[in-house]
Amino acid sequence: MQFTAAMSKNDEPTDPMEELKKNLDHAFKQGKVFFPMGSQFGPQSGATASAQQPKGDPPTEEDAEREEALKRIHEFNLKPREIRDYLDRFVIQQREAKKVISVAICDHFNHVRKCLENPNLRERDYAKQNIILLGPTGVGKTYLMRNVAKLIGVPFVKADATKFSETGYVGGDVDDLVRDLVKQANGDIELAQYGIIYIDEIDKIAQNGERGRDVSGRGVQINLLKLMEDTDVNLQSQTDLLGQMQAMMDFQQTGKARKKTINTRHILFIVSGAFDKLGDAVKKRLTTTSMGFGASRNTSEDESDDFLVKVETRDFIDYGFEPEFIGRLPVRVACQHLQPNDLLQILTSSEGSILGQYLSDFEGYDIKLDVSKEALQRVSEKAYKEKTGARGLMTVLERVFRDFKFELPSTGIKQFEVTDSTVENPSEELRVLLRENATEQRTVLSEEVTSYAQRFKEEYGFKLDFDKAAINALVDQSIDEDKTIRAICDRKFRDFHHGLTLISRNTGQSVFPITESVIKNAEKELSDWVVRSYRDQKGDDKS
Ligand code: ADP
Repeated sequence: MQFTAAMSKNDEPTDPMEELKKNLDHAFKQGKVFFPMGSQFGPQSGATASAQQPKGDPPTEEDAEREEALKRIHEFNLKPREIRDYLDRFVIQQREAKKVISVAICDHFNHVRKCLENPNLRERDYAKQNIILLGPTGVGKTYLMRNVAKLIGVPFVKADATKFSETGYVGGDVDDLVRDLVKQANGDIELAQYGIIYIDEIDKIAQNGERGRDVSGRGVQINLLKLMEDTDVNLQSQTDLLGQMQAMMDFQQTGKARKKTINTRHILFIVSGAFDKLGDAVKKRLTTTSMGFGASRNTSEDESDDFLVKVETRDFIDYGFEPEFIGRLPVRVACQHLQPNDLLQILTSSEGSILGQYLSDFEGYDIKLDVSKEALQRVSEKAYKEKTGARGLMTVLERVFRDFKFELPSTGIKQFEVTDSTVENPSEELRVLLRENATEQRTVLSEEVTSYAQRFKEEYGFKLDFDKAAINALVDQSIDEDKTIRAICDRKFRDFHHGLTLISRNTGQSVFPITESVIKNAEKELSDWVVRSYRDQKGDDKS
């Protein structure tokens, strides 16, 4: 038997204590007691109904942002072109998708505004502008919608359809998505109900998908269908006992029960998937209808893009979707493969470019990078070969910069040039760079010896007075062993403060010259010093 939330159409607060008791009884009888994902007792991620904040806290910057977002929704007045222009700043290519999405978003939020202005407006005659985005991985489908959500200021939640199972027990319950929106909105239910839910890998829950007949996929489609319509979702998952206990405690403290449901009427749903074979299927349909026979040859990537644009409801149904499910997704648009030039443009002109992140990571260490145009071209070509869209850029840049990021912060190098040979052969180029800066590197390491001596003085009150030869010996060792000066000194002088305390007690000495022979044989030198200090003390006593 399925153990899901009995959806209440009733917004009246009920006694959480009673509710909890009822649920606990039921859960224990069923042997199905779960802690929520993301709670301290459960696995991470997913929804927690406990994300709502108690009311009555002083207003914060976040509160002001939420107020602002709600105002924007109540007074929504953006035009499709304005949305498209905003998306252009971040997303390269995908012209058609930007256009279609901009129109859908304006229609959706204009409708929301009208409903807010006139609460008696009936939904019957309005089909929500839920969107289905087709296209390969890493070409900006999620990025488009994330940016739309950012522009409007509404919460955004993304999940993979494959994580849901019909009953919600294996992976999760689709209702969790709505609860996650509330969490994203910091507990603000009003804002959450204008949020955007993005479900990826939707093609994997098609009943006749590539993985064969997926019986559970149909159930998930039906559950999602319910969400896409106008329904109330319980804010607390029936399996979230922790959240229910919290609600009970709040009720006891404040005497008020929280609003317990959220309506999905104005939540916008975006589903997406690669739909690998759909392009072929559309081509076959079109060829069969126009020529009277089916196409046998597989289509190339770009051709497949062309055919995805022509997808129709029946193609989705043939692919294994429930007609009602597809019916709830009236806006359909295909995103295109990104070519090497598009990837180059992402690096050079997208405001959210991953290259910017690398530059700012190095900037964190005051290191400046000069990246040549040829280097960027080479990165784009290599990324294209990864066949993961713009994600390939991250893979390639990570490969190029990994060792630089590890080594350079510990050197005195404050600037370096990234050329096409850096992209081709990062390890070799790093070696050359380090060799060229060897002298400077020795200066940096010498300064680290001084810093170590300072720290030692602050901690123990004794001055370690390193001479030039000692510093050189430490620097050599640091380079040979590929260890930091600090690690070497910590090891060498680990027990020094005990010995130095004894010496200081015997002779009053507080400054200790560190020579090369101390570096070579620290323990022996220290014990000689200690012995000598007793002798000197005795000498003093005699006199
Ligand atoms: P998917 O199409 O699989 O949803 P994403 O939108 O998540 O791919 O893309 C992954 C990342 O790659 C984005 O966060 C963004 O940084 C970058 N990216 C992808 N496509 C584009 C694009 N067309 N323009 C700019 N950046 C992009």
